[in-house]
Amino acid sequence: MQGKVALEEHFAVEETLQDSAVFSPEADWPELKARLLDIHDRRLREMDAHGIEMMLLSLNAPAVQAIPDRIRAGEIARRANDFLADQILRRPGRFGGFAALPMQSPDLAARELERCVRELGFCGALVNGFSQLSDGASGVYYDLKAYWPFWAEVERLDVPFYLHPRNPLPRDSAIYEGHRWLLGPTWAFGQETAVHALRLMGSGLFDAYPRLNIIIGHMGEGLPFSMWRIDNRNKWMSEQNRYPAKRKIADYFRENFHITTSGNFRTQTLIDAMLEIGVERILFSADWPFENIDHASDWFDAAPIAETDRQKIGRDNARKLFKLDRSNR
Ligand code: MN
Repeated sequence: MQGKVALEEHFAVEETLQDSAVFSPEADWPELKARLLDIHDRRLREMDAHGIEMMLLSLNAPAVQAIPDRIRAGEIARRANDFLADQILRRPGRFGGFAALPMQSPDLAARELERCVRELGFCGALVNGFSQLSDGASGVYYDLKAYWPFWAEVERLDVPFYLHPRNPLPRDSAIYEGHRWLLGPTWAFGQETAVHALRLMGSGLFDAYPRLNIIIGHMGEGLPFSMWRIDNRNKWMSEQNRYPAKRKIADYFRENFHITTSGNFRTQTLIDAMLEIGVERILFSADWPFENIDHASDWFDAAPIAETDRQKIGRDNARKLFKLDRSNR
């Protein structure tokens, strides 16, 4: 398929590059490093070769979320966002941007998001899970009331918020002891992000700010497959889930969430997601440079789905969600 838009696609700046080293064997690091630092050379060639018209770029992980000092986190976010804005200016029809945000401070994050959207023309924010605070040992999740003014700003700016994975902190990783292969994309990323997304849904956040659009990757981090059970466990018992939100979890999932195909190139999984969240809320992505653009595109372009659905997932849904036709790109 030609004209695809891909939106979980990463780059690194010198200050955040090393954060990605743990996700590759030493032998592959020179390759991954080169992919992360490149924007205009191989990346564009891969896009051209595989029918990707536009990439919305975001910083690698965990990057800003793992900087406990909020002032320093703000500085790195600002520097990365300014760098990205310069890259987009060089190829405005091919690249768009997600803001990196110092979520350690809801107020700083809201102001940086506004700057990125209003001044730099970014399409939204991409945040790598919970943020570490100054004690370095604990992480903060964004369903907490302290973040609601931030969410009000996200709704006011009318831009999507991409909740991207990171690994749990060591104190929360006991279950993976002796099984480190389960960390990262294999399992821990999805588990961590799914719990964060469910916290947002159960908190009542979307009752207060019903126009929020949250994106999660990797075909929904397992949530489509589990959605019915979350709302229907032990149905005969007198009391069901108790949480502050007013509606069923599936209602928020279907009205406030979008998912991407990043790193999960599997037709069976896509079809389940289409049945659970609907084709209008699924968007094509690769997860370059951690996953290959050819793996993503070769699978998606040939997946046995209707051509009208392929157009929506590959292009139209993203153009609508990010208002790409309205901008001057
Ligand atoms: Mn990613």
